[in-house]
Amino acid sequence: MSRIAVYPGSFDPLTRGHLDIIQRAARIFDHVIVGVSNNSAKKHVFSVSERIEMVEEAIRGLPNVDVDTFAGLLVDYVKRKKARVLIRGLRVVSDMDYEFQLASFNRRLNKEVETVFLMPDDQHTYLASSMVREIARLGAGTEPFVTPFVARRLKLKFGAKK
Ligand code: ADP
Repeated sequence: MSRIAVYPGSFDPLTRGHLDIIQRAARIFDHVIVGVSNNSAKKHVFSVSERIEMVEEAIRGLPNVDVDTFAGLLVDYVKRKKARVLIRGLRVVSDMDYEFQLASFNRRLNKEVETVFLMPDDQHTYLASSMVREIARLGAGTEPFVTPFVARRLKLKFGAKK
C-alpha cells in the first residue's frame, strides 16, 4: 500500500520553510499532496489559484508531490485522498499549543488519521508567511525567505503601493 501524506496549510505565500517541509515529507512518503486551504473565513493576500501556482512552480522537481485545494473538514479531505497521514511543520515551542490542539481535534474527528510533525532546517525556524507579507508590504525584498517566483509575485502585489 502506498503511503500518502497530506500537507495542509494556507501557504499565503509559500515560504522556504514550507518548501523544506515538503522536501522532507517527499523523502519519507510515497506521495505528498500539498493541500492549499480555501477557507472563506480566513482573509488571504493571495487567492487560492495564486497560492496553488506558487506551490506548483516550487514542486516542479519533485515527482511524488502534487498540489491541490480543499475546503471543509480537513480529515474528510484526507480520507477522500486515501491518505492516512497529515504533515505539519513545527518551528518553535510556541507552535506546539496550536498544533497539538489541531492534531488532537483531528484525531477525535478521525482516529485513523495520524499527524506527523516535521522540523525544518534551523535557518527557517523564525520564518512565517505573516512576516514575509509584512516586510513585502513595507517594501523590503523577500528573496532570502521565498522562492524567486514567489518574491516576484510579492513585488507585483505590493510594489505598486510603495
Ligand atoms: P496554517 O494557516 O494552516 O497554519 P501555514 O501556511 O501558516 O498554514 O502553515 C502550514 C504549516 O506549515 C503549519 O504546520 C506551519 O506550522 C508550518 N510552517 C509554516 N512556516 C514554517 C516554517 N518556516 N518552517 C516549518 N514549518 C512551517
